[in-house]
Amino acid sequence: MCNLKIHEYQSKKLLNEFGVPVPKSTIATDKVSLLENFHDFQSKAVLKVQVHAGGRGKAGGVKLVDNSEDAVKFADKFFGNLFQTFQTGDESVVVNKILVEEASNIVSEMYLALLVDGSNQSINIIASPEGGTDIEEVASKNPEKIFSLPVNTILGPTDFHIREILDFLNLDKTLFSQFNKIIRGLYKLYLDKDCSLIEINPLILNDKNEIIALDAKITFDEDALFRNKDISELRDLSQENEVEIKAAELGIKYVQLKGSVGCIVNGAGLAMATMDVIQSAGLNPANFLDIGGGADEDKVSKAMSAVLSDDNVKIVLVNLFGGILRCDVAARGFILALQDSNGTPPKLIIRMQGTNSEEGKRILSNTKYNISFAENLDQISQILSKEE
Ligand code: GDP
Ligand code: MN
Repeated sequence: MCNLKIHEYQSKKLLNEFGVPVPKSTIATDKVSLLENFHDFQSKAVLKVQVHAGGRGKAGGVKLVDNSEDAVKFADKFFGNLFQTFQTGDESVVVNKILVEEASNIVSEMYLALLVDGSNQSINIIASPEGGTDIEEVASKNPEKIFSLPVNTILGPTDFHIREILDFLNLDKTLFSQFNKIIRGLYKLYLDKDCSLIEINPLILNDKNEIIALDAKITFDEDALFRNKDISELRDLSQENEVEIKAAELGIKYVQLKGSVGCIVNGAGLAMATMDVIQSAGLNPANFLDIGGGADEDKVSKAMSAVLSDDNVKIVLVNLFGGILRCDVAARGFILALQDSNGTPPKLIIRMQGTNSEEGKRILSNTKYNISFAENLDQISQILSKEE
């Protein structure tokens, strides 16, 4: 399952539509509009870069500003430039939008999330009084500070459970009706829009005794986007990996990773197994790639080109089961891509089984490329172990 990410400002608009309180804000796309919006907030506001990554606060991308000079500085520093947080890793994302938001006076910061628990076949509500910080850190150091509640799929969230969470968050009982509305709103949003994750970190209690979502991250199940056209329109390609976008247009499932072994596989399950083999041989996959059904020479060639376009790739591992896609056709597609690519060709490890596999192997052996053939996963693993 792949997930569509959207920006914080888009997430907050959805929260608002489902009755979850968020601070007043406007979105700026350049310095002029940022300053206009800033003055509308009487020159005191929180400025927040909008990128598809968390950890912005720690990286300087969230700032309380109370004069025009600092607002200009913030705009000049970020608009049009690349931004990195601990979540983006070595990659960085471009800042095209900045949220100008009314500043809140925080009394306490909490964590609240909804996600699918596959093992339990339910949506779980996750809550913690330790909001604002990295929740993974809380989970590893203070697991008792995290509450995880599977919602009964038939009943939905019940008053009893909502009280239980309220209590766990050390919130006063008088806040029940506010909190109840928030949980029910989030649950309805999750179902109505086929979300895969709603994460509010922090959910705050402010000095007016209001519970507000101060940050919001929502992701959606891509397989359900066909029935959520309004959500598909929220996609921001400037935040996504170029190779992933191109691959998606061709119907190839490609996810960029950080290792050195590029993979070309048909079938998502086989692709996962192949990545496991790479990892157990002490190496790391450079990508997940599922060519998908109905692949022809052109599609196979483009899949190989996508993998070759990644500079980290030192080895390309092909694990194909030829059915409708014949192995000889695939072999020709690979050669096309290798001929087109400029860099030094990588080492190739190829396992092809099924229709015309012998013919495919013959075509590939008659080339100048450095190829090792494998018959099964064990042999792939042995060849990879020698490369480590
Ligand atoms: P993230 O770092 O990308 O998760 O961005 P957040 O939106 O969560 O902001 C990071 C932190 O900035 C929050 O945890 C708050 O502590 C702080 N912050 C954000 N908005 C406000 C605000 O209006 N008032 C105050 N006092 N702090 C804020
Ligand atoms: Mn946050």
